[in-house]
Amino acid sequence: MRNELIIMMIAILLLALGIILSQGPIKSQDKDKQESEVKTVTITVTTSSVWDRSKPMKEIDISNMPYLRQGEITIYFEPAQHRLAQEISQALTTGWRLVAKRLGILLGAWEVALIALSEAERAELGGVYIRQRVQVRQPIKSLFQRPPESPEPPFPVIVPPDLQSLMEADPKTQSSIYVTMPHEALHKAVSKALDKGWRFDPQTRGLEDGLAEYIGHLVARELSPVAYQWHIKSRVEAMRDLLQRREHPTYDLTREFLGHITITISLERESSQEPSQDISLEELAGYSVALAFWLQIAQKHGEGVIKTFWQRLSQRGFPNAKEAAQILSELTGEDIWTKLQKMDLHEVLRTLEQAAGL
Ligand SMILES: [Zn+2]
Repeated sequence: MRNELIIMMIAILLLALGIILSQGPIKSQDKDKQESEVKTVTITVTTSSVWDRSKPMKEIDISNMPYLRQGEITIYFEPAQHRLAQEISQALTTGWRLVAKRLGILLGAWEVALIALSEAERAELGGVYIRQRVQVRQPIKSLFQRPPESPEPPFPVIVPPDLQSLMEADPKTQSSIYVTMPHEALHKAVSKALDKGWRFDPQTRGLEDGLAEYIGHLVARELSPVAYQWHIKSRVEAMRDLLQRREHPTYDLTREFLGHITITISLERESSQEPSQDISLEELAGYSVALAFWLQIAQKHGEGVIKTFWQRLSQRGFPNAKEAAQILSELTGEDIWTKLQKMDLHEVLRTLEQAAGL
């Protein structure tokens, strides 16, 4: 169990966003126009994959790595893994098309860096990170908000150094491609949709992460039986584990699952790589609950409901959690806010076991 938890934590995208102010405005404008005055700021964006917070992190320099670009997918790789990179690029391109066709969700541009680490190297490290510094022009009034077009470094994916083909990869590695990449790309698509900047409602995390899980689940189910089984079984295990520890078999997705993305903005200094908090077992089990939520919605009302829900969200400019639940209530006739707050864990387990063919 411990191993699986550690593995699941690889799925975690930790974004640390630091803003360093540059040397003052490059454009001096009228006083009345001060609101729209534009500054050039240097942003440091870090993408990390963390599996053990007590061990050192390794910084990956991608500047000399070759890369492949196919449509929206870019893969950085080490020269020995050219063939693997081609396969992964093809797999993700197919996955992206599938999500667009089935759910109408455009996952958008996505970059992956394949980091070759042996088991021994992995055991010594707590995680890897890639850091990029970029200059963006940003209106003064939104300096304290997340820049809408802030570029993010590629997402690091750990692969065994001798791996030549995705088909030969172990279930964990296959899952990190087929499940984790679509999952994380959904978060990016959502944060891009929040184009008015910094107004993140933590209560939406259950809905958002559940949708991210559902998308990873969908891609794996269609493209990689190995990844699919590994992922769904780990979700079943986490749920069985949670049920054993709980007196009351319900879970509140609006409160207990507060999510794993930590974004910090600091002025005039870089933010630290480290996230502020650890993920509890309860939070980890939240992924199982959040996935089951969307599986149940799709089973009862058809997958088309998800497509319509996403369209409505996009039209409304991504509302807060209660408004999002209200939209889904209108589409399903169910009281979604109550469902989110009182997920029945026995039902969750049945849903997941059924999906796993157990
Ligand atoms: Zn997530």
